[in-house]
Amino acid sequence: MLDKRNELNAWDRDHFFHPSTHMGTHARGETPTRVIGGGEGVYITDTNGKKSLDAFAGLYCVNVGYGRQKIADAIAEQAKNLAYYHAYVGHGTEASITLSKMIIDRAPKGMSRVYFGLSGSDANETNIKLIWYYNNILGRPEKKKIISRWRGYHGSGVMTGSLTGLELFHKAFDLPLEPILHTETPYFFRRPDRSMNGEQFAQYCADKLEEMILSEGPETVAAFIGEPILGTGGIVPPPKTYWQKIQAVLDKYDVLLVADEVVTGFGRLGTMFGSDHYGMKPDLITIAKGLTSAYAPLSGTIVSDKMWQVLVQGSDQLGAIGHGWTYSSHPICAAAGIANLELIDELGIVENAGSTGAYFRSELAKAVGDHKHVGEVRGDGLMAAIEFVEDRDDRKFFDPAKKIGPQIAAALLERGVIGRAMPQGDILGFAPPLCLTRDEADIVVKATAEAIKSVFSNL
Ligand code: PMP
Repeated sequence: MLDKRNELNAWDRDHFFHPSTHMGTHARGETPTRVIGGGEGVYITDTNGKKSLDAFAGLYCVNVGYGRQKIADAIAEQAKNLAYYHAYVGHGTEASITLSKMIIDRAPKGMSRVYFGLSGSDANETNIKLIWYYNNILGRPEKKKIISRWRGYHGSGVMTGSLTGLELFHKAFDLPLEPILHTETPYFFRRPDRSMNGEQFAQYCADKLEEMILSEGPETVAAFIGEPILGTGGIVPPPKTYWQKIQAVLDKYDVLLVADEVVTGFGRLGTMFGSDHYGMKPDLITIAKGLTSAYAPLSGTIVSDKMWQVLVQGSDQLGAIGHGWTYSSHPICAAAGIANLELIDELGIVENAGSTGAYFRSELAKAVGDHKHVGEVRGDGLMAAIEFVEDRDDRKFFDPAKKIGPQIAAALLERGVIGRAMPQGDILGFAPPLCLTRDEADIVVKATAEAIKSVFSNL
């Protein structure tokens, strides 16, 4: 067993190009390789036998928890009966058609079709193409710019990495590309003027968006994309009236809204969709992660009836749409999606996300909210974050070289709990499986308080 582990470690360092990993330190063996061997409920176990409570659900995706027999059986059965057939030129499988109906039944009002992909990134790529196609059909080919937000996360492809508003995803890749712009992020804790209340800050963000649309020319701005609650950018819920004010600006200038619900879709905020939770009225919705709870890779673009009617009309001028992936609506992934959505209903997981989420966040705030280096404990549903600051009064950042966020995540892992050091700022994020119990939430809170104490006492 030890030999096998050593062999795997060597192969890993020599051959495996890891995503979002420091290549040098990993290849030189300066950072640990962790090989995960199994998972059950909210726990994963590595090949050294160490068990950890995964309070980030992988990458906020294993929403029903690990080891669900029902999904495994559905995948196996589909693989035996029909492992693959494509969906081009009107083909389908029972699984892919059934899943599209199940998604529309659960989606916010006014949505009518689902275009399947495999990742959140490719689904956002589809969104961009549909938006451009839509405006071409409507005879306004200049209306193509897409406004995203600083700290938004929408993928890491060339266009979707451009939509993402984080430096790490731009700097070394000559991004963002031209038709993508970024506006103010609704990050209340770091608002430019601390005398603003939530309402004033929401108005400030909406005014900034309007200014950008006017300076670019409304006839050139096609769409606005946002996550209902910022995820990878720091787990930041918007001020209460933010979406309502943004929506008013978008409506005024005929700009489409894309709700990127890759994280929030299928229950994370205690409602089936974050759009319903915050009263957004999207024209397109991006889904992925929670659609299959990551048991198989599957994403989708949910298209509103308003857009669908234009797209259909366009097909009579343009012919078959020149957009498709080999694995769009892969039947094995669709079978996983069906079993997952059924399980979400059977287990009452959406309600649990709301109630256990509220409990978890309030316990977290009680346990660490008064610490002198905790600037804010925030979140919504089963998403939470702790932002660390050098000084609570002036909200000064720590010197990034101190790596406070990663140190705390490491100290937490030593205590058997996985949280995530978010990529920009000293922010520890949580997004546990939606089946989390109160007892499990207590374990996370206790370990977090201890980890914070230990890191700051050694500073
Ligand atoms: N959108 C959001 C909101 C995300 O959080 C992510 C991934 N974390 C993506 C899109 C991209 O998804 P993927 O990594 O599957 O391409």
